[in-house]
Amino acid sequence: MCDFCAQGGKRARAGGKSLGQIKADLARAKKEGVTGAVFTGGEPTLHPDLPAAVRAARAMGYESVQVQTNGRRFAYYEYCLELKKAGVTEMGPSLHGSTPEIHEALTRAPGSFKEVVSGILNCKKLGMYVLTNSVITSVNYKDLPELARLLMRLKVDQFQFAFVHLVGSAWKNRKTLAPKKTAVMPYLKRALDAGRESGVACYTEAIPFCLMKGYEACVAERVIPEGPVSDADFYIESYGDYRRDEGKAKRPECRPCRWFSLCEGPWREYPGLYGWDEFKPVKGKAPAAER
Ligand code: SF4
Repeated sequence: MCDFCAQGGKRARAGGKSLGQIKADLARAKKEGVTGAVFTGGEPTLHPDLPAAVRAARAMGYESVQVQTNGRRFAYYEYCLELKKAGVTEMGPSLHGSTPEIHEALTRAPGSFKEVVSGILNCKKLGMYVLTNSVITSVNYKDLPELARLLMRLKVDQFQFAFVHLVGSAWKNRKTLAPKKTAVMPYLKRALDAGRESGVACYTEAIPFCLMKGYEACVAERVIPEGPVSDADFYIESYGDYRRDEGKAKRPECRPCRWFSLCEGPWREYPGLYGWDEFKPVKGKAPAAER
């Protein structure tokens, strides 16, 4: 299991969902007006019915289907082809370092770097849209510019760097896993520069606007679609509301900040570890278009 896994031992605890349950959740969300489905971790490619679930989603009228994965199974070209034929529109593998040493120090899976890189190449060979996710940790943050350059060489269509969410296994490893955001920013901005210079959509998650001066367009919370989440053991109507109301936090001093209405703040465990000193309200009024 990856050191930073936010799901922890959920698979062992809650078990997998049957295809029937997945279809029922898809139908429920469809009725609520949702048009895109994302199959995500635990690890969806370990589910034997993933292709069938994708087919079901498309048959119900979902316009987009994304698979967020550790990316290892994408090393099998035939599996990528099966997912494409089933109707996946966006392949979302994870790459956490520009070298096997860095990536595998986090995944704890020898050979996983090569598998993910081959997987990205397989998806691109099939003409699929590839958006990658990389988790920012103490282990890899200095490598982010090099990682972004590798992603550009692999011709990914979009990439995101998500600051480690200190829950699940990540909470257990928080002392060694979580860097200070201010230490990360110079490297993160150089990484985003690599994407922007190549004209590739690039985002960060859980890095508030006050640390993103000049890079505000890259704040992922601006573009994350609203919608329900069907987890192993619960269903929530709005992931956005969950993030804003429970997952993330702002503080009273944030109120005058020009980004207050758009900003979700850091995951709430972060200030528990490092305090609030890094987050300073930004002066001025947010232009209407940014609200
Ligand atoms: S609202 Fe708070 S956390 Fe968000 S950008 Fe402003 S100061 Fe930073």
